[in-house]
Amino acid sequence: TNARTPLMAANWKMHLSVAEAISFIAALHERVGSSQDREVLIAPPFTHLWPLRETMAAAGFSLAAQNCHWEPQGAFTGEVSLSMIRETGCRYVIVGHSERRHIFGEPDEWIGLKTAAALARGVVPIVCIGEKIEEREAGLTEEVLQRQLTAALDKVSVPSADALVIAYEPVWAIGTGKTATPQQAQEAHAFVRQWLEKRFDKAVANGVRILYGGSVKPDNVDDLMAQPDIDGALVGGASLKASSFARIVQFT
Ligand code: PEP
Repeated sequence: TNARTPLMAANWKMHLSVAEAISFIAALHERVGSSQDREVLIAPPFTHLWPLRETMAAAGFSLAAQNCHWEPQGAFTGEVSLSMIRETGCRYVIVGHSERRHIFGEPDEWIGLKTAAALARGVVPIVCIGEKIEEREAGLTEEVLQRQLTAALDKVSVPSADALVIAYEPVWAIGTGKTATPQQAQEAHAFVRQWLEKRFDKAVANGVRILYGGSVKPDNVDDLMAQPDIDGALVGGASLKASSFARIVQFT
């Protein structure tokens, strides 16, 4: 049985003002309501977390940070700790997004430290993994996913399946308009679920939500969500307009 509540997540990256975000949340709530059968999540910039917390809670939407530091405090100019993130009403944090890995040079090891710290502090990490185009073409997709999963999750215990979310985001599909086919995505998601069963157990593997990300749009979300191991979406570009993100949330 599949008890995984679909998680439809907006990654706003470095977009929208606080005022625009407040109008967005109202418009989205008007369109989708507060449904029990799917979870709506928004990851705005850090500066928006505190001012949005009440509006988000009232709408029944979940709030996520886009990044974190693993240390509880210290001399780390420009960084934000997990307790600070928690204090803003966030239940989730994105770790290892491909832009963090490939633009800002975050190594696998940092993703492991962030994931472990988030789990230890009760913030649900949304761990992003995914291969580059040259890796897929060389037949290395599973090897890359395995390396990233091992680095992120090797040293942790997962207290329950809802304490962890994985996002499979093939780098060649992010912001490019090239979506993985539902079959390509399903294959990768099934591989991740098998890995989770080997590393943890069946309950964790069956319960952890695995999101697909990479050019998810209103016109491809239904086919992606129909795959048995796709439990939600992490959406960049198409999450910036309430009308298009609402349609994604309302996949059928
Ligand atoms: C992302 O940044 O996580 C993402 C999937 O972006 P886009 O939907 O624009 O491809």
